Amino acid sequence: MGLKTRKIKVRDLVIGGGALISVQSMCATRTRDIDATIRQAEDLRKKGADLVRIAVDNKNDVTALAEIRKATQARLVVDLQENFLLAESVAPHVDKIRYNPGHLHHLDKRRPVRDKVAWLVSIAKAHGIALRVGVNCGSVAPEFLERHNGDHVNAIVESAAWHCDLLDELHFTDYVVSLKDSDPEKVVACNKEFSKRRPDVPIHLGVTEAGLLPDGVIKTRIAFEQLIPLGIGDTLRVSLTLTNAEKPEEITWGRKILRDIEEGRFVSVPDFGKGLNIISCPSCSRVENAGFVDLAQQVKAMTAYAKEHRLTIAVMGCRVNGPGETDDADLGLWCGPSAVTLKRKSISLGTFRYNEVLPVLRKELDALVARQ
Ligand code: SF4
Repeated sequence: MGLKTRKIKVRDLVIGGGALISVQSMCATRTRDIDATIRQAEDLRKKGADLVRIAVDNKNDVTALAEIRKATQARLVVDLQENFLLAESVAPHVDKIRYNPGHLHHLDKRRPVRDKVAWLVSIAKAHGIALRVGVNCGSVAPEFLERHNGDHVNAIVESAAWHCDLLDELHFTDYVVSLKDSDPEKVVACNKEFSKRRPDVPIHLGVTEAGLLPDGVIKTRIAFEQLIPLGIGDTLRVSLTLTNAEKPEEITWGRKILRDIEEGRFVSVPDFGKGLNIISCPSCSRVENAGFVDLAQQVKAMTAYAKEHRLTIAVMGCRVNGPGETDDADLGLWCGPSAVTLKRKSISLGTFRYNEVLPVLRKELDALVARQ
């Protein structure tokens, strides 16, 4: 808990300024499936989630969100990716808006990012809600990646710092920042560097797409055990690839990791990550096919024979972060409604039906293993 960070309020929840580190999660149900999303939001709240995030991409999701708001006491955060223009219609139904600086350039292209952020601030001020600047390795704003020659850590830190300076210029202080990567060591580097530059800004901690159990928890611990004892981190999420019924386990693990750190039980495995690394997203309303979690589990099972080989395989649930996040993986799969795109680094190897992609993945992995 950052003693030096300023206090912000998300409805009645205090984040920063030495407040207890809050634990949050995100619904993986389709937002427009109102009943399922209410159920999941309530399950997360009853499990102790301080905040529950919900993805919104279109007007149907906004209509559903209004109904969800009426049916749950959970403090709600809306996750806006490409369609930041929905901020005005979602603001009355939530306590915080997360925007992704790396997706602000997709819509309304002629309008400078500066104006878009000023508009988001005007809405947050009008509704008395907080903002999160959520920078993610899978979607860093192109101009920052170019400026830092593809160096993700510096690009992520610079992007976050640039948005903080802009929000300060706009006299808006009710914001937190997240700097996420799927590599726990990069999460440590980003957050250490950022908190040195902006010790006043509350931080949302997380290893993005940490993946399936137990690897997802181990990766998360590697980052959290190095950052939280330094006073870095004011709220956190453990991003795990779980079925909808298991989703509340993200809260259980978040609380357990905090308790262990508080009681000096450090369990991260220093040698972890020397072999096969499976990255997979925690899924959300944008997931293109309900078979995503199954596919991620099948990939893990099928590739176990290569566990000694230092290779990364990424399995992503949709086209929002899928294409970007799979670019750096040795082999990557990102899901579409009826087919999966398979890639070797940034090269597409084609699109395959869900029940046909594993043998192709096996052949590609065999080739990489043979080369090692
Ligand atoms: S990759 Fe897509 S489905 Fe997975 S968490 Fe990100 S936005 Fe959601």
